[in-house]
Amino acid sequence: MAAVCEHIDHIQVTELPEQIEGCVDCLKTGDRWVHLRMCHECGEIRCCDDSPNQHATKHFHASSHPVMRSAEPGEVWSWCFVDEVAFRVVAD
Ligand SMILES: [Zn+2]
Ligand SMILES: [Zn+2]
Ligand SMILES: [Zn+2]
Repeated sequence: MAAVCEHIDHIQVTELPEQIEGCVDCLKTGDRWVHLRMCHECGEIRCCDDSPNQHATKHFHASSHPVMRSAEPGEVWSWCFVDEVAFRVVAD
């Protein structure tokens, strides 16, 4: 993989949890989400920018964890908030 993202060393977690309940922040407040993302640094699940609360983006700003991946079934792309580039961390 070309060096499109300079934050590869932030990637601690690559595989999704076996069970995903939903966005950890939406679950606390009873809000809804559209799609789910997983933080590659802490492994927590949060909601995408199509969701009303955009918790994945808020998590990036709050924690400076720059890279997340899709937590949707069959989706393996990852996204760096800093470099604003999509790439693939996980092999098939
Ligand atoms: Zn990056
Ligand atoms: Zn959320
Ligand atoms: Zn995180």
